[in-house]
Amino acid sequence: MNHHQPDLDTSPEVSDEIRKTTCYMCACRCGINVHMKNGKVKYIEGNRDHPINKGVLCAKGSAGIMQHYSPARLRAPMKRVGERGEGKFEEISWDEAFDIAAKRLGPIREKAPHKLAFFTGRDQSQSLTSFWAQQFGTPNYAAHGGFCSVNMAAAGIYTMGGAFWEFGVPDWDRTKMFMIFGVAEDHDSNPIKMGLSKLKERGAKIVGVNPIRTGYNAIADEWVGITPGTDGLFVLAMIHVLLKAGKVDLDYLMRYTNAPMLVNMDETSNEFGLLLRDLQGQFMVQDRVTGKPAAFDKKGVKPVFTGEITYQGTKYTPVFQLMTEKYLSDDYAPEAVADRCGISAETIHRLAAELAHVAFEQEITIDQPWTDWKGEKHETMTGRPVSFHAMRGISAHSNGFQTCRAIHLLQIILGSVEVPGGYRFKPPYPKPVEGHPTPHSSTTPGGPLNGPHLGFTRGPEDLALNASGTPVRIDKAFTWENPMSSHGMMHMVISNAHAGDPYKIDTLFMYMANMSWNSSMNSRGVMDMLTDKDENGDYVIPNIIYSDAYSSEMVAFADLILPDTTYLERHDCISLLDRPISEADAICDSIRWPVVEPDRDVRGFQSALIQLGSKLGLPGFVNEDGSAKYADYADYIVNHERRPGVGPLAGFRNKDGSGKGRGEPNPEQLNKYIENGGFWKDHIPDEALFFKPWNKAYQDWAVERGIFDKPSPYLFSIYVEPMQKFRLAAMGKGELQPPDHLRSQLIEAMDPLPVWWAPYEEQGIDCEEYPLHALTQRPAAMYHSWGSQNAWLRQIHGTNPLYVSGEVWTKHRFNEGDWAYVTSHHGKIKVPVVRMDALNPNTVWTWNAIGKRKGAWALDENAPEATKGFLLNHLIHELLPPKGDGLRWSNSDPITGQAAWYDLRVKIEKAPAEDGVSQPETPAQASPVGQGPKDIAYGGEF
Ligand code: SF4
Repeated sequence: MNHHQPDLDTSPEVSDEIRKTTCYMCACRCGINVHMKNGKVKYIEGNRDHPINKGVLCAKGSAGIMQHYSPARLRAPMKRVGERGEGKFEEISWDEAFDIAAKRLGPIREKAPHKLAFFTGRDQSQSLTSFWAQQFGTPNYAAHGGFCSVNMAAAGIYTMGGAFWEFGVPDWDRTKMFMIFGVAEDHDSNPIKMGLSKLKERGAKIVGVNPIRTGYNAIADEWVGITPGTDGLFVLAMIHVLLKAGKVDLDYLMRYTNAPMLVNMDETSNEFGLLLRDLQGQFMVQDRVTGKPAAFDKKGVKPVFTGEITYQGTKYTPVFQLMTEKYLSDDYAPEAVADRCGISAETIHRLAAELAHVAFEQEITIDQPWTDWKGEKHETMTGRPVSFHAMRGISAHSNGFQTCRAIHLLQIILGSVEVPGGYRFKPPYPKPVEGHPTPHSSTTPGGPLNGPHLGFTRGPEDLALNASGTPVRIDKAFTWENPMSSHGMMHMVISNAHAGDPYKIDTLFMYMANMSWNSSMNSRGVMDMLTDKDENGDYVIPNIIYSDAYSSEMVAFADLILPDTTYLERHDCISLLDRPISEADAICDSIRWPVVEPDRDVRGFQSALIQLGSKLGLPGFVNEDGSAKYADYADYIVNHERRPGVGPLAGFRNKDGSGKGRGEPNPEQLNKYIENGGFWKDHIPDEALFFKPWNKAYQDWAVERGIFDKPSPYLFSIYVEPMQKFRLAAMGKGELQPPDHLRSQLIEAMDPLPVWWAPYEEQGIDCEEYPLHALTQRPAAMYHSWGSQNAWLRQIHGTNPLYVSGEVWTKHRFNEGDWAYVTSHHGKIKVPVVRMDALNPNTVWTWNAIGKRKGAWALDENAPEATKGFLLNHLIHELLPPKGDGLRWSNSDPITGQAAWYDLRVKIEKAPAEDGVSQPETPAQASPVGQGPKDIAYGGEF
């Protein structure tokens, strides 16, 4: 035996320098160590000190290097020289680009600021972009939330002051049973994977509720292959079982929720359905001792939970009574919903019993004294160790808001939010509705908007309507059609602008939103709208400015291109003013910085926006003498103050870097972040770690850190009173009245207690003709559409077949290599099919955004993404099928306006394979960056 093994260097030096920044290959924002060699990016690894990923890196993150060296990167500002959609451009200087933009936008601002529609995609600088739009003065601003997961965010905020993902996290170290609803592997990717591995190590049970068993669901201990769009019904059935068994945490409901509050039951009253308040505006309950109404927080008051009380001639009932009456109805019995949900009644009963067992028989206690906001001292922190997570699969339905609310209601009646083992908020959350602005939409030519665009309506008075009742905003957000559209409705902008409904705009300005392809419903129709001309030969949407880092499909439709950098070339901040990276135990934020300088004539979009803002003389972007206030985004990050002492970054404030959350701007702040690994973290005191909405120590700490300006304790809203205000209007009460055709929809949808209705698309079509549900989800290896041009990642997913269940496969006699026509009420596509048995039998699905338009992304026109890859978007329309009432209703949630992507119904039939090319085939666009080389390499170093 030869013991002389060759000497191998198993840890060769891969770099001469490591630069620490924040990943942007998805929105999780992990910390990364970028290894540099000879000034070039050589290798990316996870940052072990970083709060989000603690060194873990996913396939996307490590492939960031290929994103950075992508041949599809734009090189310089460009103006269109061909027809829209062709992709023909001429490169210009930044001075010329700013001149073109300012000549167009300046006069708009002076005369009619609403003629600018400024909408951004999945960027992470909404604090800046919204501020810019506000200073410009247009009411037409939002980011991508309306077509992503606003149902989740809005339902969470209205119910409990925070939702999932960026708002909070399961207590991975203590939870004993975890249910995950409608989550693909892209959302909160590394943190969830790390959390699930902790649960696996401890033997905690994981239940995956999803029609498709991939990723997280594949490693779940139990998979519940639910029928799409029925999650709300399933959850309400579990609530039915728990209420029937008396398995609810009454003490938690009494202390921390509006369950005991009294609701006006007099249908003739203008206050019908509203909560009783005393003269000081405090909520009232019925006191068990006196039998009379009393302020809920009065010392010694013990509220009654059931029954009815007459007070000053009006009948009142506690919220809890209304809740139990509603969900104990046989309509919510497991036996009544089982077929509809595709889950047996026995499974629903068993899962509810398991939740109750873990919550009430396995409670956990931490020996940590704390004091609540009323001054009551508690010796320990006790929790019910069940937790939940949900995401886009739940929210992207027309019943998504109420389904999200149902999940939160389940969490709350189990007493498992903000307790050890339950679901925990991450600063700056929890934050109640009252801590958020209302929407603002009042314009003044030449001046700023009257306040922030997006917010949370409290009643009809907050709608964005003109005196005549017409929508103020181009996307028709905050109208009677969707009164709580807290993130705007980006998916309606192009179709409304094209239709001139409610008015025509001049300039559509977008960032990082691939609206002519995978980010729109009805992609072909949107391409037509973007290129349509009027009778004078002018484009119907007159001017389009677009910013992107890559030669995406949307680039071809712009008149002016502002080229962005890659994420390794720019300054960025992951800000507490926006969507931060905090943990349940700590407040955190982070930065990106140019670990490598751009080798092209490109600028970070945020810097370009600031420079354009200065050129336009926008308040907030110029000094009194008209000079630029900020040189670029880095300057803004350090020196901008949203409130005195509070800026984009919370760490290392004050000149000496000692300020935490509050403090003067520190010129060295960015360097301090870089020295610290690209992030800042400050631990929450131990006595403030749980019960945050009601914990005095947490509230005081949050004020010190600049999260609030005064302590803001609040109660969870089982019953969301603002919803009833819209219902009252629909019942004819109050001065502000909805149009008649929306009254019944408002009364049904704006139920202050969670409710379920069948997805709207299936209400409007013949479900026997379209028997299948059709879904997309993002793969673990890709996030935005840019993943499928990444030289490494496209080797994992180069095409996207349509996965069909064994039942569908057998019924249609499919064989390996077959193709199928898939038809919806709106369109027909031809796609390759693959069998998958870990799938709800009535569902077909595919990976999202793999398909590319020929000529885009510098790919070969015969690349598999452009030939075999496909989009389901061609089958989805932004409007529902005609109902016969002469109206075309929006394909969205009637509360928030969230795009109902996952309501899609289709039929399938075998198609001839012939050329092996998916349909529809969209003609190629010219590539302003040419075509990438056959082999991607630099300097022969790979
Ligand atoms: S999970 Fe997202 S942010 Fe984290 S390494 Fe992967 S791609 Fe980057």
